[in-house]
Amino acid sequence: MKVDVLVIGAGPAGSAAALGALAQDPSLRVVLLDRSAFPRDKSCGDGIAPHVVTALAEVGAADVVDGWQPLRRLELAHGPVRVEGDMEREVHVIPRAVLDARLVDRAVAAGAELRRQRVTTVSTAPLGVDGIEADVVIGADGAHSVVRTQLLGRRREPRALALRGYAPVTEEWRERQVIRYGDRRQPSYAWAFDRGDGLVNVGYGELLPGEGSGPVGRSAAPSRQLLLDQLESVVPGAATTGTGWLGHHLPLSSWRWDQPDGPVLLAGDAAGLVNPMTGEGIYYAVATGIAAGRTAARAVRLGRATEAGAVHRRGVRRLLGTHLRHTWVSSRLAQSPTVVDAGIRAAQRDRRVFDTLVEIGLGDGRIDRHLVRGLAGSLAVRRARP
Ligand SMILES: Cc1cc2nc3c(=O)[nH]c(=O)nc-3n(C[C@H](O)[C@H](O)[C@H](O)COP(=O)(O)OP(=O)(O)OC[C@H]3O[C@@H](n4cnc5c(N)ncnc54)[C@H](O)[C@@H]3O)c2cc1C
Repeated sequence: MKVDVLVIGAGPAGSAAALGALAQDPSLRVVLLDRSAFPRDKSCGDGIAPHVVTALAEVGAADVVDGWQPLRRLELAHGPVRVEGDMEREVHVIPRAVLDARLVDRAVAAGAELRRQRVTTVSTAPLGVDGIEADVVIGADGAHSVVRTQLLGRRREPRALALRGYAPVTEEWRERQVIRYGDRRQPSYAWAFDRGDGLVNVGYGELLPGEGSGPVGRSAAPSRQLLLDQLESVVPGAATTGTGWLGHHLPLSSWRWDQPDGPVLLAGDAAGLVNPMTGEGIYYAVATGIAAGRTAARAVRLGRATEAGAVHRRGVRRLLGTHLRHTWVSSRLAQSPTVVDAGIRAAQRDRRVFDTLVEIGLGDGRIDRHLVRGLAGSLAVRRARP
């Protein structure tokens, strides 16, 4: 079979890529492959940033959040240091079994052909996978991407490991997102995100030891029991009442984002795009998926598939480059519990700092003068204490 664009992986990045390609050129033949049948579950906090909805509106799919209760309340805490407030824009908490299946449906309705197939290798001449040849391939196959490994080798950037479950809602967790930092290797935090349907997504994650994540091999990867114990100690009641535990790796973004030249494009977790401060990755997946799809469609039309990689690299750097660098710096600073406390205290004093922290965590923020002044103020007060 010969197609124009082959998308490997039908999570948010893959469906968005298919939607992006078909929005650019509805006459293209686009195949969307996944090893799983949909609906399928995916370990996630299910937090959908408003940026996701804005990005999806561009390809006519903003209504995938319909019917789920939006929320604005956010609690950020580290031990007794705590701030609570309303976020500027509302977020959604939608189980990935629902969200991802809706996105796949939208891609199929736009004209993508969905196939169930596990990819083990991508051939370069001709370009494609077993039984399918393509002008452009988009690797959207998640944290353990076969496409990325083949293209760039094993990823050396930091990873986190997180576990999520679902617990019955309590008054403490109702209509809010709760994020509480832990005391292990940062970023480490537990969360409780109200879905609005009687269940709360609860979980805990932390940075893994290894290359790029601080001293190598200082301790082994955390066990499932350790993750559950941490969750219970930071958000009491979450681990004891939760069920349906599912863990997964998060490939955290670093200072620099790379995409090789050529006709193979990367998007989402396959491109190593998870916010190192908060573990958010759905916005980056959707945004880079749409960008990859559009770039692929244009390259096919112009007969310039080999130039697609360079165009995608420039496009994503323009879209996310500055934000990713600021997020990386923030995550380095937040490795110090003192800085985490200083940030939360600054957000208590100044609403603008609260908004900046939310934006950095969700997908578009930068370190601005309010945050710098706020941090400096908190740290000065701390130093002045006897
Ligand atoms: C515990 C946890 C909590 C998180 N919480 C949040 C949150 O609240 N908000 C947020 O924005 N982000 C969160 N994230 C990150 C988010 O889940 C990911 O960034 C997001 O799923 C990335 O989307 P994707 O499409 O790139 O990859 P995925 O969603 O992983 O999709 C990849 C797809 O590729 C398929 N695939 C993989 N390998 C192959 C293969 N060889 N052949 C064929 N198909 C293949 C898979 O079946 C899958 O459907 C969390 C992650 C974890 C682990």
